[in-house]
Amino acid sequence: MYLNSEIIRADFPILSREVYGKPLVYFDNAATTQKPLSVIRKIEEVYSTINANIHRGVHRLSQLATESHEEARKTVQRYIHASSSNEIIFTRGATESINLIASSFCRSQCKPGDEIIITAMEHHANIVPWQIQRDITGVVLKVVPITETGEIRLEDMEKLISPKTKLIALAHASNVLGTINPVKDVVRLAHSRNVPVLIDAAQSVQHIPIDVQVLDCDFLVFSSHKMYGPTGIGVLYGKENRLEQLPPYQGGGEMIANVTFEKTTYNELPFKFEAGTPDYVGSTALGEAIRYIESIGLENICFQEEKLLRYATEKMQQIEGMRIFGNAKHKSPVVSFLVKGIHPYDMGMLLDRLGIAVRTGHHCAQPLMNALGIEGTLRASFAFYNTEEEIDVLVAGIERVKKMF
Ligand code: PLP
Repeated sequence: MYLNSEIIRADFPILSREVYGKPLVYFDNAATTQKPLSVIRKIEEVYSTINANIHRGVHRLSQLATESHEEARKTVQRYIHASSSNEIIFTRGATESINLIASSFCRSQCKPGDEIIITAMEHHANIVPWQIQRDITGVVLKVVPITETGEIRLEDMEKLISPKTKLIALAHASNVLGTINPVKDVVRLAHSRNVPVLIDAAQSVQHIPIDVQVLDCDFLVFSSHKMYGPTGIGVLYGKENRLEQLPPYQGGGEMIANVTFEKTTYNELPFKFEAGTPDYVGSTALGEAIRYIESIGLENICFQEEKLLRYATEKMQQIEGMRIFGNAKHKSPVVSFLVKGIHPYDMGMLLDRLGIAVRTGHHCAQPLMNALGIEGTLRASFAFYNTEEEIDVLVAGIERVKKMF
């Protein structure tokens, strides 16, 4: 279904602002998306009407805030089709979710020499936590290479799997190349060797319908702020039996059953992994963001974003000196590019003066940049509220900057 961009854009107050006297063209959605009014209002509503610390409170406000937090957990469960809300752990974001698994999993399930497999297109958030564990527990990191088009081959991954492989952790969609990885096939392959899989869905959960039971993945992580929700909150999904096997990541309030100086027993799932006062305002607003996505329809979002990606790719390819990185068949709405003879920072800064927000640099994927033999790129990343007219503004902006050089 075609979305009426005028109506959609009215939901996002920031989209009508100007930057340097020019209408804002916001193409940095892979870094963070803008927020609809319903989400902004929800945050105000929680603080204005039900704010109180949650769980264990006998008073009315505490009960209401607790209900709101737990309702949000159910909303997330529904959105990714988890079989139980016990499988939804609230964290600070995708990064913390991966750190949690890396720490708890490696500490409890790995011995020196055991192997973790990742891919060459991972965000630092899915590299560095494993390296930290490598230094602590002696696990070995193996990396699946990428092809010319920016894809992984299952045969390459299969070759890396050995009896010592303990986990495969990979991005569902690359934040640089846009590549959508065949995660269902990866899970099938991994499970045939009894290897669990963690999917980093930071760049897919806002674009593609996700059903964790169909994917059959063991863990899946994402951040609220990339899916129209607030910053500071995200999700770790884990199969209940997997999460049961893992020790807590952090200690403190909420995550305990009983504490004496001699011994502490831990709370049940999901609370075992939620030490301290949870971000119940953030969770409630994330729930609202999901309801917003559902009101638009993820399939409509997907349709609009694919259209924008096709349009942008076609138009940008016509620019002389343009080099686009990532030409996978299945892509999220991201175009990483360089223009011959122009440093990406110069291009990014000059586009900014025209009101166009794109990201420049290594995009937290330095090993990928090394593999591509470059320092960085420019990245235009789209959301369903963007328009073809805005892409025309970007293309004209790039041409204008080219003339200046
Ligand atoms: N994984 C991928 C693929 C990402 O693109 C990002 C952020 O850009 C992250 C993980 C980390 O997300 P956050 O910084 O919200 O924790």
